[in-house]
Amino acid sequence: MLKVNEIYYSIQGESSKAGLPCVFVRLTYCNLRCSYCDTEYAFYEGTDKTIDEILNEVKKFDCKLIEITGGEPLFQKECWELMERLCNEGFEVLLETGGSLPIKEIDKRVMVIMDLKCPSSKMTKKNLYENIDFIKPTDEIKFVIGSREDYEWSKQMLAKYDLTNKCAVLFSVVFGELEPVTLVNWILEDKLKVRYQLQMHKIIWHPETKGV
Ligand code: SF4
Repeated sequence: MLKVNEIYYSIQGESSKAGLPCVFVRLTYCNLRCSYCDTEYAFYEGTDKTIDEILNEVKKFDCKLIEITGGEPLFQKECWELMERLCNEGFEVLLETGGSLPIKEIDKRVMVIMDLKCPSSKMTKKNLYENIDFIKPTDEIKFVIGSREDYEWSKQMLAKYDLTNKCAVLFSVVFGELEPVTLVNWILEDKLKVRYQLQMHKIIWHPETKGV
């Protein structure tokens, strides 16, 4: 059984798959409490579902791209089996994780989109840096940046772990905290080899809208 907060069909908004139709499986619970969290409703609310029930539900959308998100999806151990079963059924599976729990054992067919939490999140101490050793070239590392301090810290991480030579690196802003144009100008000034990431769903729909 997995506790599932919601399953819905929308547009992928926060990776290099952004813009593609995608089925989202949002799992309940999170072990972090980021200062800017916009999915607090996923901390506790949810319905128990078997993996078979989840598979039957996602198949109804007739969409091969599935994202497992949260909360923190890796908080529930059955998540590993869910990802494997989805891959076996021929789905392209994305996993969004906050980066505090081990990714080593995740099925290699899964594309992992992993955060490294910046200082303004107040969760930097939870980053599990060993995960970087298990990032595949097809995975992505994401920094959600809310200040110049966050930006400088992110640059240090790029250099320390040679991240841009390991996988695609995404920089996005904390919505309402840092103007996109400011971050884009910093990236261009420093000629960083990162991808600026717009939170597309917050622009298409109202920023507070759930299930999009
Ligand atoms: S990891 Fe994600 S869901 Fe958990 S507190 Fe941080 S932003 Fe919210």
